[in-house]
Amino acid sequence: MTSTALAATLFGPEDLRMVEHPLGKLADGMVRVRFGAGGICGSDMHYFRHARTGDFVVKSPLVLGHEISGEVVEIGGAANLKVGDRVAVNPSRWCGHCVACREGRPNLCENIYFMGSASKTPHMQGGFANYFEAIPAQCVKIPDHVSYQAAALAEPLAVCLHAVARAGNIEGKRGIIFGAGPIGLLTMLAAHRAGMADVTVADIAPAPLAFATRLGASHVENVAGGKEGLKAQAVSRPYDVAFEVSGTAAGLASAIGIVRRGGVVVQIGNLPGGQIPTPSNAVMAKEIDLRGSFRFGFEFMNAVELIADDSVDVLSLVTAERPLSAAPDALRLALDRSQSVKVVLTAN
Ligand code: ZN
Repeated sequence: MTSTALAATLFGPEDLRMVEHPLGKLADGMVRVRFGAGGICGSDMHYFRHARTGDFVVKSPLVLGHEISGEVVEIGGAANLKVGDRVAVNPSRWCGHCVACREGRPNLCENIYFMGSASKTPHMQGGFANYFEAIPAQCVKIPDHVSYQAAALAEPLAVCLHAVARAGNIEGKRGIIFGAGPIGLLTMLAAHRAGMADVTVADIAPAPLAFATRLGASHVENVAGGKEGLKAQAVSRPYDVAFEVSGTAAGLASAIGIVRRGGVVVQIGNLPGGQIPTPSNAVMAKEIDLRGSFRFGFEFMNAVELIADDSVDVLSLVTAERPLSAAPDALRLALDRSQSVKVVLTAN
């Protein structure tokens, strides 16, 4: 058994280093996982560039990574796992007894531990490390035919399944997604699965929109030059549901502006921190249901199942793989939207 781990640790904006740290004795109730693969998420990229994402600010060194999978190598105490199990790792640990947990909304757990996040201080360290720890409940076994790369992407798929669930019954409805990054694209795939009849994807960059077309978008709209095209479409066939995934004030305003009267807007994107101006009177006058969607709850299990039975091809989003040891360069590559959709880190 190795005694040290190498972890992609963020010290400040664009200052990500591979840092070696000793592995302590594994506590009872924990399992140790050897890194299999890790997806680079938009929030990892925000942390990398600005040392913050939305309202979460990095105040001390943070190991990034929350889309992870690997192999169980050590178990502290009893667990429904064995050494050698291949697992997708849910980055969330829920308390199970707070009001939100009792209501069946564990993503809103008051005592949540979420790997690779600066939402709390001390920060919760992530999984971009060749060994990391989890509790058994975080570890979902994957069949042999599922690659670690695919298993790592159960997490973003769960985010999108949750967002679609927040939209309510979307069967036969018409939707629009603002933002064609990985979460926008997976939301599109999840919306199709949930029976949405027609999904338009809007973005300001041509490369992600071309990708959306390849993955089956009903329509794509480049809104860099304005939203006239969208408005024209909305007149003939109004949008019932709008998903804001771009993480921009403009995206949220567009979603509120374009959705039909009585429609639903789901905000998944993490906007820049602080107060964001929104067209609130449109929310009132159109009686829009504006719904937040934060991470995911039990959808994680569902995401693993959908990947295992080939219902959602998460690997179709992967544009590059890099070894974990090259995490800083991989983050830079992921930031280049002209060539990257999803960059996945693999074991060295
Ligand atoms: Zn709780």
